[in-house]
Amino acid sequence: MRKKFKPVRMCVVCRTRYYKDELLKFNQKNILNFDSVGRSFYICRDCICKDDKILKKYISKITKIDNINLEKIKESVLYGGCSHK
Ligand SMILES: [Zn+2]
Repeated sequence: MRKKFKPVRMCVVCRTRYYKDELLKFNQKNILNFDSVGRSFYICRDCICKDDKILKKYISKITKIDNINLEKIKESVLYGGCSHK
């Protein structure tokens, strides 16, 4: 039996809707240097390769956190680099 419904989430940067399993999921634990629990958010694979300044702007806007550890974010999902830089 095939189910047609798949959960959809929105990328916080480009605001495009994708299937949840195509997006990269983050929470505040991923973006800070210390442990904390908070709401999670999603970023698509195209947006994660965008300019650091752009990413920081969007992520701090939705998490209300200024000291984002963007290196940690990228490291955790890109395994060392962006495929189309
Ligand atoms: Zn996006």
